[in-house]
Amino acid sequence: MPRALRRLLPARPVAAPSPEPGCPELAEAPADADPGTPDGCEECLASGDTWVHLRMCLRCGHVGCCDTGPRRHADAHFRETGHPVMRSFERGETWRWCYVHEQLG
Ligand SMILES: [Zn+2]
Ligand SMILES: [Zn+2]
Ligand SMILES: [Zn+2]
Repeated sequence: MPRALRRLLPARPVAAPSPEPGCPELAEAPADADPGTPDGCEECLASGDTWVHLRMCLRCGHVGCCDTGPRRHADAHFRETGHPVMRSFERGETWRWCYVHEQLG
């Protein structure tokens, strides 16, 4: 086949996404943890604030509000501790999130 034509062929289709491509944090993180503050965001409970959604750190069980709310204590927890993987702390949700690679797993 002529070289010019070969270059026009579409790239190989991308493989179906696997749960943790190249993310050692998600591969190592447990599926669940013991929540430190099962009633809600640790910092918001302490300051009397409210939150929208919660995430739980799978390294230490810290519960923090996620970026749907204004205070984003789950994000702050990652920045302060470097604990990379949190999971949703909402009823019926089991997704996990790696802050390092910003991906679900
Ligand atoms: Zn990762
Ligand atoms: Zn909070
Ligand atoms: Zn933590």
